[in-house]
Amino acid sequence: MDTTPAIHRRDLISVLGVAGVAVAASASQPRIIGGTPASTLPKGLPGFDEAKGEYVLPPLPYDKAALEPHIDAQTMEIHHGRHHKAYVDGLNKALKALRDIRDGGDAALIKHWSREVSFHGSGHVNHTLFWNMMAPAGKGGGGTPGGSLAKAIDRDFSSFDKFAAHFKAAAGSVEGGGWAWLVVCPISKRLAIIQQEKQQDQMLTGAAPVLGIDVWEHAYYIKHQNKRTDYVTAFMNVVNWKYCESLHDQATA
Ligand code: MN
Repeated sequence: MDTTPAIHRRDLISVLGVAGVAVAASASQPRIIGGTPASTLPKGLPGFDEAKGEYVLPPLPYDKAALEPHIDAQTMEIHHGRHHKAYVDGLNKALKALRDIRDGGDAALIKHWSREVSFHGSGHVNHTLFWNMMAPAGKGGGGTPGGSLAKAIDRDFSSFDKFAAHFKAAAGSVEGGGWAWLVVCPISKRLAIIQQEKQQDQMLTGAAPVLGIDVWEHAYYIKHQNKRTDYVTAFMNVVNWKYCESLHDQATA
């Protein structure tokens, strides 16, 4: 039985989440798939077990109640333990199905399972980033960025306040389930704010994530019900800007 991972973790991470490119899995693919350099996402993301050749749910980097009162513990528990877990399981299932197809299954289903890889793989990458993009308020979370990211925000948005207003409005106006991202464009190395629909559509190919917010209802409905704007405002109190600065530094190096 072939237990080789269908696709190398770095290769997958390089194209999912921010690129939204459906992947035709191949163990022989080089480090660039779908035109996206592997360097556009941070190195060392958790969430893959090399020994098993399977994706795994990484633990939260803090206690589930650590982001209160801004993000409540029950939401964190369900969001991480059930929703993110389902994306990990869905990604493993899709990759196994594609492996079975290569071993003689119905090739007509490659389109379906490739879409599943894109959806669940993006869900896994997005949430793994998302947990690390937050920290308890006053203990790494909230405030404003420093370093090269602060300079880039001033250059590209005129001021932090103008950036924040733009980011919050983008997050608030995503139609249905989706995300808003502050990203670095791979061509200009300038910052841009984009909206992602579902977990993988409408992205800027090769864009490197700096800050993202999940605006699916499962991210906020228990505490905020339909008031997404309240959730987006609360989120800004727990943004881990040091982590965002490190992502920006990696993307512009
Ligand atoms: Mn989510």
